[in-house]
Amino acid sequence: MTRGTGVLLIGALFTLCATALGEGFEKDVVKTSAGDLEITFVGHGSLVFTFGGKVLHVDPYSKLTDYSTLPKADAVLITHGHGDHLDAAALAAIRTPKTQVVVSLACEGKVDGASVMRNGDEKVVAGISVTAVPAYNIVAMRSEGVPFHPKGEGNGYVMTFGDTRVYVAGDTENVPEMKALKGISVAFLPMNLPYTMTPEMVADAARAFKPRILYPYHCGETDPARVVALLKDVKEIEVRVRKMK
Ligand code: ZN
Ligand code: ZN
Repeated sequence: MTRGTGVLLIGALFTLCATALGEGFEKDVVKTSAGDLEITFVGHGSLVFTFGGKVLHVDPYSKLTDYSTLPKADAVLITHGHGDHLDAAALAAIRTPKTQVVVSLACEGKVDGASVMRNGDEKVVAGISVTAVPAYNIVAMRSEGVPFHPKGEGNGYVMTFGDTRVYVAGDTENVPEMKALKGISVAFLPMNLPYTMTPEMVADAARAFKPRILYPYHCGETDPARVVALLKDVKEIEVRVRKMK
């Protein structure tokens, strides 16, 4: 006769608290002539702008959070086709039949019902005036002669909220079209290396077009404090560091 050893696991009951994923992000409010603009820093290259009751998502990326818990989009702007910028799952979670989706040429034909903005195009999206700015590499190459982001395929976007022009650069370097921008109040410049800008490139661009507020974003492993140091003598620019790895 054998005796089995019974192991009794007495109920360890785990209560999983429902976490409000839509909360817990850093947020800033920027005053404009037409009311408050709320900026939500989702992470990576992903942002949400809330203005006049409208919600505008930029490059929603489902690896960062559960997008079904975030506000539905009146508009979505997609900068280019890389998977951390064009993400069908995130898009599906925030899209409604009324959502206007804007994509760059790189995403043409990849999102049902989206409209394509080419570099330089202007369009009113959910009541907000949007201009597409070229986003591309000059020096960073995937292989010889092949940039990570070829010219013409990707966009940054300048959005106008009242008197406040906000520029989200997308994946780009400090290209001449960026440096020629005028009247930008708030700028988001990427530092994810080797694909986008070094802190020196970010500082060079910022010195050229002088945004009032500069957010280094899509930072990867690059330390945004380096941009703060590089621009410490430029009094007109406030560099704000938020969680945007
Ligand atoms: Zn990219
Ligand atoms: Zn990217």
